[in-house]
Amino acid sequence: MTAAPGQPVLSVRGLSVRFRMRGGAHVSAVTDARFDLAPGECLALVGESGCGKSVLASALLGLLPGNAETAGSALLGGSGGQGGLDLLTADERTLARTVRGRRVGLVPQSPAAHLTPVRTVRSQLEETLRELTGVRRPALRPAAEAAAERASFPVSHLDRYPHQLSGGLAQRAATALALIGDAPLLLADEPTTGLDRELVDRTVDELRRHVGDDRALLLITHDLAAARRVADRVAVMYASRVVEIAAAADFFGAPGPRHPYARGLLDALPEREFTPIPGMPPELSALPDGCAFAARCAGADETCATRPALTSGVACHHPVTAALEAPRA
Ligand code: SF4
Repeated sequence: MTAAPGQPVLSVRGLSVRFRMRGGAHVSAVTDARFDLAPGECLALVGESGCGKSVLASALLGLLPGNAETAGSALLGGSGGQGGLDLLTADERTLARTVRGRRVGLVPQSPAAHLTPVRTVRSQLEETLRELTGVRRPALRPAAEAAAERASFPVSHLDRYPHQLSGGLAQRAATALALIGDAPLLLADEPTTGLDRELVDRTVDELRRHVGDDRALLLITHDLAAARRVADRVAVMYASRVVEIAAAADFFGAPGPRHPYARGLLDALPEREFTPIPGMPPELSALPDGCAFAARCAGADETCATRPALTSGVACHHPVTAALEAPRA
């Protein structure tokens, strides 16, 4: 099922996730996220580890642990009360039977852990094909080979077990499984972890190809080069909040990121300033009342003691206006 004409594939509004901890404490992992994903679009969600990106992905798949509390909505295939399924309130039966694999495909963070260790890749592809597409023997074998080829997984390796695969091949096997259902939304959570540059490029190109005209890709990554390669828009998370959302061409080209944290992420790249952002992100269990980046920000002043709202794509009282330096050749 694809989004109705003119409707986003995914519409996230005010999505918040916090975890209840012992002693009544709370950890705010995602706070008030809002964005749409249009058909044919790739949105890259970037930020340092621990900023809330993967928790957001788990929320969209209904895979949060029992101590999680959610607020807001994440409508799949519609928005504004126009027939979308709210992923935050859907029951487990609906998520298991109609969403995971069929309407939302997941390329996982740890493919080796995602694959069943005691079964060959062929057996896992055939089972997923039977389940999601209804294909039966004798068509199952060629369908499994076609699914493998779609993710550039070599057919000659189909009878191997996961432990016999390199990291790159395990990633391609997991990608092949994720693509089988032709889900309108593909959610890739750090899909390039542990891959060399060439494989990173191949993997994200394949994911991008899946999008076509009527599907969408949410690419969750800390790899800015991967985001730059395939994203149409970039959303930057910091300390549980989206602090900037921009067209990829503006973000990576001119004028460049406007939030000081986002600018710092780009400046930390080896081909640019190679200067790390000073300090560490705040603990999600003890976020400040004002701007969460203030302790690391050279532009902070007394106005930053009030939390900046996301306005015109950036949550900062003093957005950067200088043009981004070109990368070193
Ligand atoms: S609001 Fe203030 S502290 Fe926060 S990023 Fe902007 S300038 Fe820096």
